[in-house]
Amino acid sequence: MVDNAYTMMKELKEYAKENNVPIMHEEGIDFLTTFVIKYQVENVLEIGTAIGFSAISMALANPKLKITSIERDEVRYLEAVKNVKKFNLEDRITLLFKDAADVKLDEEFDLIFIDAAKGQNKAFFEKFEKRLTQDGFIITDNMKFHGYVDKDESEIKNRNLRGLVRKIKDYRKFLEEHEDYKTKFYDTIGDGVAVSTKK
Ligand code: SAM
Repeated sequence: MVDNAYTMMKELKEYAKENNVPIMHEEGIDFLTTFVIKYQVENVLEIGTAIGFSAISMALANPKLKITSIERDEVRYLEAVKNVKKFNLEDRITLLFKDAADVKLDEEFDLIFIDAAKGQNKAFFEKFEKRLTQDGFIITDNMKFHGYVDKDESEIKNRNLRGLVRKIKDYRKFLEEHEDYKTKFYDTIGDGVAVSTKK
């Protein structure tokens, strides 16, 4: 990465921190960017843009890569639009301001990156896997949900959080038992990353 891009990425990270915008962990981003280079991924669907950090990181890593990324929060979407412009990536990153549940797409993607509301992982997997190429990948972030997934339920006092953790555990089971997909879990990378491929 050239110096200027490095400084700009640092600014994005600082904005995220100051404004409590959740973005992918450093290790997760390294994994994702290495992945798109290694497998020569060219067409990505990202669910959960936030301010564009992961989308921009993938686009910078692989110059052949195009991304369609969906965000339902207007402030974050507008920030992402600004950031994509700053990096001159408007021709390779298409941002959709919508709830992913309402998005209809016709094209196929060789990577689908699920990083939105964690309780909706399964719904998004089922909705968008139809748009995955035969050899494509579905990557899901936050399989560990900040370590809560490994805790005993009785230790999680907040009811909503307990419900969310339960949903993530159910999603893991759904992936493990899926008839058409096999999944590799990278539990020690960032916040836990799952990579699913067609059997
Ligand atoms: N991928 C981003 C990165 O690493 O730079 C981080 C995404 S952040 C963890 C999750 C984002 O998904 C939030 O900005 C949230 O507003 C968005 N989101 C949650 N549910 C969504 C939905 N149903 N449709 C679209 N966006 C959604």
